[in-house]
Amino acid sequence: MIDLFFMDGLPVAVMGLGKSGLATARALRDSGADVRVWDDNPASRAAAEADGFQLVDLATTDLSGLTTIVWSPGIPHTYPAPHPVAVRAREAGIELVCDVELLGRAERESAFIGITGTNGKSTTTTLVGHVMAAAGRRIAVGGNLGTPVLTFDPLGADGTHILEMSSYQLELTFSITFDVAVLLNITPDHLARHGGMEGYVAAKKMIFHRQTKPRTAVIGVDDALCRKIYEDLAAVGDQRVWPVSARGPVAGGVYAADGWLVDDTDGAAEKVAELARFPALLGTHNWQNAAAAFAACKAAGVPAATIVAAMESFPGLAHRQQLVASVEGVRFVNDSKATNADATEKALATFDPIYWILGGQAKETGLDGLEGYMGRVRHAFLIGEAQDVFADWLGARGVAFTKCGTLDIATTKAAGLALAEGLEGACVLLSPACASWDQFANFEKRGEAFAAYAAAIAKARQPAHQQSGSADE
Ligand code: ADP
Repeated sequence: MIDLFFMDGLPVAVMGLGKSGLATARALRDSGADVRVWDDNPASRAAAEADGFQLVDLATTDLSGLTTIVWSPGIPHTYPAPHPVAVRAREAGIELVCDVELLGRAERESAFIGITGTNGKSTTTTLVGHVMAAAGRRIAVGGNLGTPVLTFDPLGADGTHILEMSSYQLELTFSITFDVAVLLNITPDHLARHGGMEGYVAAKKMIFHRQTKPRTAVIGVDDALCRKIYEDLAAVGDQRVWPVSARGPVAGGVYAADGWLVDDTDGAAEKVAELARFPALLGTHNWQNAAAAFAACKAAGVPAATIVAAMESFPGLAHRQQLVASVEGVRFVNDSKATNADATEKALATFDPIYWILGGQAKETGLDGLEGYMGRVRHAFLIGEAQDVFADWLGARGVAFTKCGTLDIATTKAAGLALAEGLEGACVLLSPACASWDQFANFEKRGEAFAAYAAAIAKARQPAHQQSGSADE
């Protein structure tokens, strides 16, 4: 737990009582602050009250005496319309900050690596954490990803915080100057919350706020918006600026070209590793994450050989194109997090030939946008509520399919066909393009079920002498 010593004895409010809001309230209480909390959702309020917190409706109560409201980044405070509490707070001159800001105020001595972008944040953050841990660094990894930052153990001067930063968090974090700041990419997202594209870009740019040399900005230059940010920062030259690309050479940066990861940050265009050496970083989008992570870790002082070795052992993130088993050359890939066609597209672009398991609770856009990948699909195995609609869509495009109903049957049938055909590069891919809620509690449970079926198939196909419990043991 982070000691928020600067709040000792002071009144402070917490607005929004999700996982990180509650963790914030606890850290403030343990630090001696006079905490009051609120959430518009009665169930969240009840949980906080059960934990002994004082509930105060910040929309109606007198706010005088308060200087700080710790704001849950998910609650709108500017666009599309500010929450009434945000309006009152601003009128009263009360600051709105998020939990990451409090971490920055508490851990003033430690280093910070921040990672943002529309896509790939969690993968890159986890990968940087994996590399830094392998390099023997004292680290904490969290932020938008998983662990609420105020539950970290304090790191002090020799530690590095590795933080996934959403645009919402960046808007509410002012005190951290990132030693290494990574911006992966920007595509239109959350525009309503930022008052349009300009606001979204402005929020993302906050990650480079106040950086001076030798602090480093790592920027993906494969989209026009990020390329412009890169050019602007490089022209001003306040910090070191390293471009990153998954699509070919970028002078002075780190990039993927001809199957290699190349480091040109010292101007030597050194080939550091073949990308095929990173089994959990498949696909062009992951090369962007790999190049960005390499640049970030190099900027943080990790030797290239250490970075490459750690990237080889990176297990990948669960449920995102995660390799869960390999049987006689057939890969089983769990992409359960792909709950819409956009996310599924990334997986379809990565593998060929594909034995594709899909279905569940369909999104409005269904499978539209995936037409161009159907040549890679050897056979589709359908599950869940969407199976009839998807069968019509696939049938109309000449894709062979089987309606399986449930995931266990789909996995068995997909594995059976893939193993029988024995095609090079074959992949049994769970990338459902659907929510899971018709058959599972969440996408994690769906992915875990698939991994378990795949593991059972792998075990059953193992030669008898390799199976545990065999006669010679
Ligand atoms: P985020 O944390 O930004 O949501 P994740 O790392 O969790 O991103 O990846 C979520 C999905 O986004 C992945 O399954 C993949 O389909 C896609 N993705 C990952 N990295 C990138 C990238 N660099 N560019 C585009 N899409 C990506």
